[in-house]
Amino acid sequence: MSAAPMHTLPEDIFRAAFEKSPGSLLVKADAPRFTILAASDSYLAVTATTRDGILGRGFSEVFPENKNIDDSIKAQHIFKKVVETGQKIDIPSYRYDMFDPDTYTYEEHYWSCSNVPIVGNDGKIAYILNTVVDITGEVKAREQAIEIANRLRLANEATGLATWDLDLVDNHFVYSPRMAEIFGHKPDDTLSLAAFRSQITPEDMDNIIKPSFKQALLTGNYLYEVKITCPDTSVRWIKTQGVIIFNANHKPIRMLGTVLDITESKRDEIRKNDFIAMASHELKTPLTSLKAYIQLLEKKITKEGDPFINNALVKAGNQVNKMSDLVYGFLDLSRLESGKLQVKIQPFDINELITEIITETLLVSENHKIVFNPVKHIIINADRDRIGQVMGNFLSNAIKYSPRESTITVSAHVDDNKVQVSVSDTGVGIRPKDQEKLFQRFYRVENESIKNISGFGIGLYLASEIIQRHKGKIWVESKEGKGSTFSFSLPI
Ligand code: ADP
Repeated sequence: MSAAPMHTLPEDIFRAAFEKSPGSLLVKADAPRFTILAASDSYLAVTATTRDGILGRGFSEVFPENKNIDDSIKAQHIFKKVVETGQKIDIPSYRYDMFDPDTYTYEEHYWSCSNVPIVGNDGKIAYILNTVVDITGEVKAREQAIEIANRLRLANEATGLATWDLDLVDNHFVYSPRMAEIFGHKPDDTLSLAAFRSQITPEDMDNIIKPSFKQALLTGNYLYEVKITCPDTSVRWIKTQGVIIFNANHKPIRMLGTVLDITESKRDEIRKNDFIAMASHELKTPLTSLKAYIQLLEKKITKEGDPFINNALVKAGNQVNKMSDLVYGFLDLSRLESGKLQVKIQPFDINELITEIITETLLVSENHKIVFNPVKHIIINADRDRIGQVMGNFLSNAIKYSPRESTITVSAHVDDNKVQVSVSDTGVGIRPKDQEKLFQRFYRVENESIKNISGFGIGLYLASEIIQRHKGKIWVESKEGKGSTFSFSLPI
């Protein structure tokens, strides 16, 4: 018995190995028949054939040519070319539909194949190794992805939305033609990211875009509105919204977004703001003289001592004060929107300011108790009037939204180089879903129990803008039905 040399495999083992290999078929180079000599199990499985059914038969006999495919990728043609050239030929993707015996129909199938020449003992090409992989799943997924992208593109075009995609690793930037159009260029103009950015002012880059990018690094989402100057010098407003994609190490690798031209609605908003500014400015003048007359009358009447008239004048004075607070609120709102709300930084004692605001508040609302125990002087650098305005808003809200005779607690303490001021009430409280929105412009909670309490939803918006301009933080903690604590903190 002679043992096979160590480096050659016995033929039966070699055949078994071949039959287990993925998608392989061995044909003889006997053109035009190309007799099938061996087939792997997986080849039989994907082509729904049996070894007995195909071995020894010609390739085209078993797999008739697909009439719809191009001649250049027909098996006969490829096999002949492999024999002629002695080179391997790959077909990365082609369609060959398979007959389904269950449904009696041909099913759409896509394949990728490779045809490798094998040289026989005489030095000529004797066989061809044909390996195929069923790539129907991949092709379908790709088609679906293209269809989704097309549908998205159509939807975006219909709504006027532009899309863009920035690779943060290699700075590769792609955008839809609509983006160039919004920025005042021709849809097919080629523009770099720097070219788009140059249409935004350096101030807006620093004050709007950079902070929103910083925020997006924390939340993953960004949204901002900014004005752009078009090549024809016209000014437009855009709204950009999108996401940042991070890798497994939380490194930002990609930014995707949409851009919408909001010039029209922005113009409406600017007109509305101008109107508010003008109306509140006009209302301010008669209010100031009304206040002066009431003060004059108060002085006169106090001397003559009629308690009824005296009382009525105090009440009239309080109402005029309330009205001026509202009018000044609107005036601040319009200053804020047009970027004219300035803060004048000066050192002052925050405890003194809090005590002053509490005294003023108690003058007009006598039905609540306000508790405040200042411990020591806390000197901060901030706009005294504006911080007073925030305190006043917290206190008047605490009074508005809590029952008569209840106690409001104010606290101020220094922690970690910051001063934190809080105002707590035991009033109606706020649901979590409303808490997130309270600091937005015009937001008011819709709730049966407070529907008769008047307000415009601008006090907290102004408060949050004022605190932001001091690089501080503002927040609320609250439980519905139990009460709320509004706080702000400022760097010392
Ligand atoms: P306004 O009180 O004039 O409506 P604000 O901006 O000051 O406007 O407040 C916005 C909303 O927040 C209020 O309408 C109210 O629903 C809610 N809110 C504010 N403070 C409190 C509070 N202390 N308790 C309960 N709800 C409050």
